[in-house]
Amino acid sequence: MRAVDIIAKKRDGGTLTAKELDWFIQSYTRGDLPDYQAAAWLMAVYLRGMSHDETVALTLSMAHSGDTLDLGDVAPVVADKHSTGGVGDKTTLVVAPLVAATGLPVGKMSGRGLGFSGGTLDKLEAIAGYRVDLSTEEFLAQLRDHGIVVSGQSADLAPADGKLYALRDVTATVSSLPLIAGSIMSKKIAAGAHAIVLDVKVGRGAFMKTEADARALAEIMVEIGQSVGQHVTAVLSDMSQPLGNAVGNALEVREAIDVLHGGGPADFVAHCLAVGEQMLVIGGQVPNTEEARQTLQATLDSGRAWAKFREWIGAQGGDLGLVDDPDRLPRARLIKAVTAPRSGYVAGIDAMEIGLMAVLLGAGRAKKGEPIDAAVGIVLAAKVGDAVEQGAPLFTLHANDETKLAEAERRLLAAFAWQDQPVEPPPHFHGIVS
Ligand code: URA
Repeated sequence: MRAVDIIAKKRDGGTLTAKELDWFIQSYTRGDLPDYQAAAWLMAVYLRGMSHDETVALTLSMAHSGDTLDLGDVAPVVADKHSTGGVGDKTTLVVAPLVAATGLPVGKMSGRGLGFSGGTLDKLEAIAGYRVDLSTEEFLAQLRDHGIVVSGQSADLAPADGKLYALRDVTATVSSLPLIAGSIMSKKIAAGAHAIVLDVKVGRGAFMKTEADARALAEIMVEIGQSVGQHVTAVLSDMSQPLGNAVGNALEVREAIDVLHGGGPADFVAHCLAVGEQMLVIGGQVPNTEEARQTLQATLDSGRAWAKFREWIGAQGGDLGLVDDPDRLPRARLIKAVTAPRSGYVAGIDAMEIGLMAVLLGAGRAKKGEPIDAAVGIVLAAKVGDAVEQGAPLFTLHANDETKLAEAERRLLAAFAWQDQPVEPPPHFHGIVS
């Protein structure tokens, strides 16, 4: 087979066979195909899409590009959650230790920032020393010993996604249904959790802008997981405005720590509890979401979730001095509080623009493998539905570059929509697919 023929077939709207897809994915993973051919193929898939069968075949090839774990030896049920990507989405940092602290082990393979959306691995790396590159043995040992592990793709686990993910980030090929489904479900299959909650984001700050697209993505991912014997449920959650207040890696770690101490923004806390509930239910820990909620709230209130967070971060090499004293996390040189230009109700906050401005400040990448600045980002002081007086705080910018700060300030002010009449905040959830 020749890569150029496979690229041309997809470019011209053809349907690739499972053999062609597998050849392409394994060759690229081994390093036999260059990035430029993979990038051309990604763009062809982005523009032409994939059939249902192609998407399933792509996912299985990516999942089998490395080892696939059988976690049954570690625990009878291991849970996982995965977001399709959003702005300010630091849910894993709270939900993974919260659920693990109830006694349900959580084993998770996460990703880095993609385009305007943040990535859990980048957030975790804001904690000096935290290791995201565990080998298969280390992944299993961490899960066995601590009941919680969050790592990245390695040479062993879903390496095809590791390579394609980084390339998609810088070739404008992220928001494609088959590529997202393949990326997420290959990691889920390789990491081998039994009960998985997919957090499929909908809206401006998500890759799926409409509920119909988000539902289609949720359905195919649930089907792929179930076809390999996993219990999978998807929640469709709102991403028309950022989740919580903080956007930017160290800022988000700080907000997650606040939640684990019983504080944090109400929308983010509600989101974490709702995702955690689904994990406990499909993980078979409790019969229904009401009991799940009580268990989670009690675990949070008792400090057990915070203790599990410390145990997890410490065991993966993170500096506990930083999480115990978040003022010591990376801090930007320039911190500017920006006030409301008018009085009124916040009618919209363009989540994509907020994500793009976080990237502009340095929280994400423009080129493959580029370093990011853990300190920079944005903290919102108002959310959709809030009444704000002119001159009251609207957001705070954390930057390390004066020019970028000025541009971000101008564009962020324009990302807010205002109304004189009261505004209903958007719903947290748009539905469940299971
Ligand atoms: N998260 C992933 O792991 N992959 C994607 O493609 C999007 C979000």
